[in-house]
This record gives sequence, structure tokens and C-alpha cells, in this order.
Amino acid sequence: MPQKTPTISLLGIPFDANSTYLRGAAEAPARIREALHSDSTNLWTEDGADLGHPGVIHDAGDLMLTEDTESAFPAIEKAVAALHDLGHPLIALGGDHSITFPIVRGYQKRFANLTILHFDAHPDLYHDLGGRYSHACPFARIMEEKLARRLVQVGIRTLNAHQAEQAKKFHVEQISMREFCANGTGRFAALKLEGPLYISFDLDVLDPAFAPGISHYEPGGMSVREALSAIQSLRVPVAGADIVEYNPARDQHGQTAMVCAKILKEIAAAMLRGGEAPREDRA
Ligand code: MN
Ligand code: MN
Repeated sequence: MPQKTPTISLLGIPFDANSTYLRGAAEAPARIREALHSDSTNLWTEDGADLGHPGVIHDAGDLMLTEDTESAFPAIEKAVAALHDLGHPLIALGGDHSITFPIVRGYQKRFANLTILHFDAHPDLYHDLGGRYSHACPFARIMEEKLARRLVQVGIRTLNAHQAEQAKKFHVEQISMREFCANGTGRFAALKLEGPLYISFDLDVLDPAFAPGISHYEPGGMSVREALSAIQSLRVPVAGADIVEYNPARDQHGQTAMVCAKILKEIAAAMLRGGEAPREDRA
């Protein structure tokens, strides 16, 4: 019997109607794919997996969505559940951060006990900000519906009184950017994350100097290398992920698109490792 090629599904979710400040993230999936397949680089991960090998990535294309949340969200949930039925981990390309709520809903049939690792400058825990389904609210909705057993937020640097209260109410664990800066990825080991893990990666967790193609500039964020090290330090099966809030309208020369592609590759590497350490780190 030939060995089964591990497959990761890729799904574009071009939806930005729930952005509170700037539109543009709906253009992201196509730009990220372009960067991923750009001749300026290759499809190898840093631990030596070739994502370009036939069958490793199953690209399911982009969803066709209307701007209306009431029809778009169920469509996202359904598409995610259908892709999950194939039995592969899934990486979704946003879109604004509001899409994480219907995505995580789509995981419930297979994974009722998700731990979510959320990279973001913002906690996105508002009860209501520009509507209950805006991109500032997805984690309030997820925790209200008990769609995750644990939510761990990393890189936060905009916590206000309301969201601190929400975090307390929903027992959200947070590693603020300030703490991250002082302790580096050492805190991750202390977290003792358990699978199945879902990674929600909002590009604005990175310092705008590294990723200017975003809508909400919040200085004092992670370097790309710090984010990659955090992902590479994971020792837990990763069932799914999203990469959201990339805004090509604010990008130059596709610089931030390439950052998205890099993050995508290393999340894919973590999925392929299934909880093992990267090759170089193994004894
Ligand atoms: Mn966000
Ligand atoms: Mn954010």
C-alpha cells in the first residue's frame, strides 16, 4: 500500500462586510495564494516539508458569498463542515475576523472540545461593536455558545475595561504583548495546550512595521520571527486555522501577502507534524 499523502485543505473566505473601520480584507485570499505560489520563493516549510508535493495541499477555492451576514455565515459554517468531513485539517484565508465565529461553528460536529489559540492585537471580545457579528465580537459569540473549551489570546495590547470584563466572564487566558515581550515563547510551554487546537491568526498581532497591509495599526507588536517561533513551539495536533485581516489595499509590493504566506506555511508544517517537534528540535 502506498503511504497516504497527508492533506491540508485550503479555503478562501472573501468576506469583509463586518469590518468596523476599513474594507479590503475580502481581496486577501487571492493575494495570499499568489504569494504562496510566487516564483520568488518555494513551498518548503522551515522543518523540511514540501507543501508543493502533489496532494499535500487541497485548495478548495474561494466561497461565493453575499455581503449579508445572515446568509454568509451559514454558508461559511456549512462549507467548513463539508471540508472537515474529508478528514483533513483546514486553513481558512479571510476575510475580516468576523468569519472565525461561523468557521468554529463548522468544526463542532467533529471537534466539540477545541482549544483556540488566538493571535491578535485586539481581544475581539466586544458584546456589540458595530453589531453583534462585527469583527470586534467573534470571540464573545464563540464563548457564549461554548464552542471552545479554552481560549488563549496572545499579543493583546488594546485591552479596555469592557473587554477585560468579558475576558473574565468567559475565563479567557491572555498573554499580553507586554508579557510576551518579557517572556518570549517560554510562556507557551507553560500553557500546556491540548489538542485539537485551532489557531486564529489576525495579522495585526504583528507590528505594523512587519505587516503594514492591515486595517488597524497597533504599534508595539510581534516580529514575524516571534510569531513563527510561537507556532513552531507548538507540540499539539492542530485541527484548523484561519489567517485573517490582511488588507491588500494597504499593502505595498505584496510584502504583507508574503508574510501571510509564510505564516500559512508554518501553520501547515505544525499540522503535518501532528504534535511532534520540528525536525531540528528533535534529539
Ligand atoms: Mn481580530
Ligand atoms: Mn486585530
